[in-house]
Amino acid sequence: MKILITGGAGFLGSHLCRALLGNGHRVICVDNFITGQEKNIEELKRNKRFSFIYHDITKSLYIEERLDWVMHFASPASPKDYLKHPIKTIKVGTLGTHNCLGIAKAHQARFFLASTSEVYGDPLVSPQPETYWGNVNPIGERSCYDEAKRAAEAMTFAYFRQHKINVRVVRIFNTYGPCMRFNDGRVMSNFIYQALTGKELTVYGEGNYTRSFCYVDDLIEGILRFMEVDYPGPLNLGATYECTVLELAKKIIALTGSKSKIVFCPLPSDDPKQRKPDLRLAKKLLGWKPKTSLTDGIKKTIDWFKEELEKGRKFQIRSPQ
Ligand code: NAD
Ligand code: UDP
Repeated sequence: MKILITGGAGFLGSHLCRALLGNGHRVICVDNFITGQEKNIEELKRNKRFSFIYHDITKSLYIEERLDWVMHFASPASPKDYLKHPIKTIKVGTLGTHNCLGIAKAHQARFFLASTSEVYGDPLVSPQPETYWGNVNPIGERSCYDEAKRAAEAMTFAYFRQHKINVRVVRIFNTYGPCMRFNDGRVMSNFIYQALTGKELTVYGEGNYTRSFCYVDDLIEGILRFMEVDYPGPLNLGATYECTVLELAKKIIALTGSKSKIVFCPLPSDDPKQRKPDLRLAKKLLGWKPKTSLTDGIKKTIDWFKEELEKGRKFQIRSPQ
């Protein structure tokens, strides 16, 4: 198949490009590197079935060769990134999704939207099932991301209903693994980088907020299975082991053998207090559940971060702020 992936040079997009090339498909990756990294696709560029288009997907894009799938991953995803680029984040969630749906319609292609658990906002129910409508502050600092993704879901379902586009909407819960940017500001990359470089681990608030962390390989497998099932979504994908941020910090210090200390910093505004997916639908539809334990996933991620640090890097490493 011929598959267009927006945001293909990002953390998740690059894993997906690699998996699809591995399955024999042709992959066209579109990215403007606003939060992605060229090094994520360097090795993929050597594959004849891979091509890269440097493009901002909020602007029109015409692809000549017939596409089978359009997978829309482009968007800043870390709170630090989308707080820095709130307007670009809203634009890629709305205009970018509109453009991708237009491409899917023109090609009669299957459309995939990488939505997010953030559509549930600061949830009042836990775990969060797909039927929960969420608790989002429409004008808060995070709204550029949350509301853009909610609009993206609405736009996707409008195309599904009006133009009968074959769509798949996944609400991705916190996912981590190799190829995250050291300084992307997310808790997993911050803590691992801080622990490996002897810096203090920055726990926000008292560290009692919770998240459930999914290892990237499990997520990609879930997404690929979902593409083959005849159901538009939305579908939660993630992991169900819920841990506090403080527990995560201590675990990373132990697994890296670091001498780093923990420092408590102010909480960001509208930070969801807890997050854990209800995965019953994913299990029923896909027979899927995440396989990698938190300990094993963190160990693999630490190994990758260590290797990257040791390589000395071609690009500049900045400390997480
Ligand atoms: P990322 O920041 O690593 O990747 C996003 C990619 O999109 C980057 O390569 C960036 O340069 C590109 N991009 C952004 N705006 C663009 C534009 N206008 N035109 C072209 N390219 C653009 O983030 P990620 O973690 O890989 O997230 C990928 C997708 O998955 C996002 O849509 C995000 O909302 C969703 N998601 C991720 C998580 C997670 O835990 N990683 C959780 C929920 C949802
Ligand atoms: N967090 C933290 N220290 C950090 C980065 C994040 O304590 O250096 C907390 C953050 O306040 C949130 C959780 O970790 O409660 C997850 O944050 P992240 O930015 O990874 O993603 P989110 O789930 O909020 O989108």
